[in-house]
Amino acid sequence: MSITLNDIHRDFGDFKLHMNLQAEKGELISLLGPSGCGKSTTLRIIAGFEEADSGSLFLEGKDLLSISPEKREIAMVFQDYALFPHMTVFDNIAYGPKIRKWSKEKIREEVNRFLKIVHLEGFADRKTEMLSGGEQQRVALARALITEPKLLLLDEPLSALDARLRKKLRREIRNIQRELEITTLYVTHDQEEALAISDKIALIDNGECIQFDTPQNLYRKPQHIFAAGFIGNANLIPVGNIDLKSMSAETEMGKFSVDYIREGSDEKFIFFRSDKCLIVRDDNPELSNMISGTVVDEEYTGSRKDLEIQVGNQIIRASVPEDSPVAVNDMVTLHIPEQHCRVL
Ligand code: ATP
Repeated sequence: MSITLNDIHRDFGDFKLHMNLQAEKGELISLLGPSGCGKSTTLRIIAGFEEADSGSLFLEGKDLLSISPEKREIAMVFQDYALFPHMTVFDNIAYGPKIRKWSKEKIREEVNRFLKIVHLEGFADRKTEMLSGGEQQRVALARALITEPKLLLLDEPLSALDARLRKKLRREIRNIQRELEITTLYVTHDQEEALAISDKIALIDNGECIQFDTPQNLYRKPQHIFAAGFIGNANLIPVGNIDLKSMSAETEMGKFSVDYIREGSDEKFIFFRSDKCLIVRDDNPELSNMISGTVVDEEYTGSRKDLEIQVGNQIIRASVPEDSPVAVNDMVTLHIPEQHCRVL
């Protein structure tokens, strides 16, 4: 089912939410942003745990704001699982179906089907308090999905788990979500997680969606300084004169040809990612967008070498192949291809 948020407002005094969002059937959309930006409030309004002051909310064309939470056919999974600890895995998953008065046989069949889907065959009779965090979150997922909700809301579902398990489980969630084709909104403050699992990401800052885009576009083509800085490693160089005709901008490091210039009159910066910098010879007449400086720090990460390069009074970050023959105190020249440079 598709979900649409149109101008949803919520005023908490110090904090104001103003949200527009759209997810098509079967999509997984991440709500990504720093702590306190309004991600959970957005989910809570959709689920009906929080009221909106104004705006509209449609699930496949049906107006949700006029429907009580239990009739919205939406399931939500939380960071702390919220399972019934003294009940068995079976009874936890069977909770919704029992309330809906499904027959005993259908309940058994469906619980077993979902135990398989979340890879917990053989766990039916265990008390959930005896399970690991990852297993508990699988139970929570099965319990949420068994009644076939029209929309799945996941609020930081993996943040209580360690890094390796988080990666494993996020893949499983994505596979299950694809298999069941359930439209899903996924709240996270982890940019890597959002890039890895989303069809699209809503990047949120201070109650508003700053950019709603595919992971690739958010990484390659941020439209705002905030988006550039929140995801990946960004370099930002203050800009003087801008020439829209030739798509170029002056900086203290020379003139840059760029791919995009943001409209608006406030302070602007050239943006490029550290992994788009190429080390070149400084006498190549064919190349533009070249800057030279001294390597002041290097960090070896295995596949890459992350350099800090002093250029004038600014540090530029360049991530180069790990076998690049450069070291601290070397003079280097970088070339940043025009298609990776943006004025934001
Ligand atoms: P986190 O990642 O830390 O969970 P979040 O992006 O999910 O953050 P929200 O929980 O949506 O953020 O909160 C957004 C802002 O609204 C915060 O400043 C929070 O203190 C405030 N807030 C949330 N609920 C209420 C409420 N019921 N009354 C007053 N303020 C609230």
